Amino acid sequence: MIRMSEELLLNADIAAKKWSFEIPPAPIDDSEIAETVTSDVVVVGEGMSGLCTALSATEEGLKTTIVTASSKPVGRGGSVFATYSKVMERLGYPRFDATDFYLQEFASSSYNVDQRKWYSFHNNSETAMNWLIDMLEADGVKVVLENGNVDDPQSPTYQPIGTHAFMGENVSFAGIGITFALKALEKNFLAKGGTVAYRNIAKQLVKSGERVTAVIAEDSEGRLIKYEATKAVVLATGDFSANRDMMAKYCPSYAKYFINDDVDYDAAFVEKGLYKGDGHRMALWAGAAWQRTFPNAPLIQGSRTCSNMPYGAHRGIRINKNGERFMNEDSNAPYTAQAVLREPDQTAYAIWGTNYAYDIGWQAHGSTRGSDDTPPEKVIERWEAGVGNGNIVKGGTIEEVVAGLGLPHETTLATIKRYNELCRAGVDTDFCKKPKYLQEIRQAPFYGGKIDEYRFFSVFGGPRTNHNMQICDENDVPLGGLYAAGTMIGDMYANCYNFRIAGHNYGCCLTFGYLTGKFIAKNE
Ligand SMILES: Cc1cc2nc3c(=O)[nH]c(=O)nc-3n(C[C@H](O)[C@H](O)[C@H](O)COP(=O)(O)OP(=O)(O)OC[C@H]3O[C@@H](n4cnc5c(N)ncnc54)[C@H](O)[C@@H]3O)c2cc1C
Repeated sequence: MIRMSEELLLNADIAAKKWSFEIPPAPIDDSEIAETVTSDVVVVGEGMSGLCTALSATEEGLKTTIVTASSKPVGRGGSVFATYSKVMERLGYPRFDATDFYLQEFASSSYNVDQRKWYSFHNNSETAMNWLIDMLEADGVKVVLENGNVDDPQSPTYQPIGTHAFMGENVSFAGIGITFALKALEKNFLAKGGTVAYRNIAKQLVKSGERVTAVIAEDSEGRLIKYEATKAVVLATGDFSANRDMMAKYCPSYAKYFINDDVDYDAAFVEKGLYKGDGHRMALWAGAAWQRTFPNAPLIQGSRTCSNMPYGAHRGIRINKNGERFMNEDSNAPYTAQAVLREPDQTAYAIWGTNYAYDIGWQAHGSTRGSDDTPPEKVIERWEAGVGNGNIVKGGTIEEVVAGLGLPHETTLATIKRYNELCRAGVDTDFCKKPKYLQEIRQAPFYGGKIDEYRFFSVFGGPRTNHNMQICDENDVPLGGLYAAGTMIGDMYANCYNFRIAGHNYGCCLTFGYLTGKFIAKNE
């Protein structure tokens, strides 16, 4: 048995050993069970995916119970992608064409993802989104299209139209309204006869023969309750980013950044570690294999300092601590985070002039599609606010800003001089950046700031899951009676979650949840 420790040296022996989390605990004896509850479907977890699956199953006439460790529906953020919808139609936006875009995504994933899931999402997200929109609009919630990066479709920065967001009381920022959806889904679930067992921490799955037939949970009084499922158990327990051992095994390069290992089952907008992979471990103990894609893809957001796009990063010059330009700056914030993590001290800087506010268009994070550009004066106001809180350095000369950032004087000035020459020439012969992103640093006052903000949000994937969301063994044979939903679905993402489709994961929580409820009704 091995555990995560500083001096852990992997070798053949150790590699063959099991991690402690892979070893099943002793089965809970029936004599310890205080109560048994029988349903057709038991869904473990009350996040977006758990609720969508449970409501969909209930609408198919299945008696459904949600067993959740949380005291209420749980979620964070609120960007939810769909290929098309009645809201997109109303606003006159075209259906998302995945033809080339998906091929780009598969290439950026080294073709190491389950394409059947991606196309199932593509072909069904409209129906699922319209299902949700009907519930939200019935509650008076406004469904809008969140603004994304407008760019050349083949650019790694480009984001297709289709990210939906929900607005209402106290929420006018697009992308933080997931609670509206959770409330509407739970309300409809309860109204249609569903049951929720709150503050019940699922501990173990129960098998009869090869089939999973129940889950045992501990309630808030410490009693063990057996939730029997005549048709299926659906695991929707979120991620494993707060489990240090699982991160070390399945996402080793980023394990050291996910330092939070306290679990709050009601966790909302939490960074650096959410859950401990309870559902993942229960599935492994029941005989599931792990996904094929290795490593699991982390969800990391990067710096938006002086970014002119909602999910962009600064696309003027980027300089590392040695005063060197190190990349083509035409990348979005998550990809920028990956690039800056490779630089010395994992840090980098941006330097720009006042002209930058006038030379390009500015679209704000949290704005809606079609909204006007942010006026340059407002952009400068934000920079000044950054100067005020010490995040941005300001100077009457570039030299002052370079000094203020503590960058090496000679090298940095030479780098900026070279960059400005390229901008004036209109051709970037060093990093081939598109001419439209070559804005000279010419007008005082000048500004500069760090672009090394990393937001370690989550990690995606888990047990081997086929395109019907059935959890499978090493031979890709469904275990029987066991499904996955949401973040823990295996083989959906590879390398990193790149935000090119903003709200893709919630889109999958919604669409696959909707489909799985119906699949169980039809096939179990
Ligand atoms: C800060 C942040 C912002 C994000 N914003 C977005 C966004 O805007 N758009 C997007 O697409 N994605 C976003 N994500 C990623 C992801 O989509 C969300 O994390 C999403 O909430 C995942 O939904 P889920 O249903 O898979 O799991 P969760 O929402 O994490 O829900 C898991 C549920 O399982 C319960 N649970 C856990 N263990 C047990 C157990 N043992 N027994 C019973 N219940 C248990 C939990 O209490 C919870 O109710 C964000 C992630 C983070 C961290």
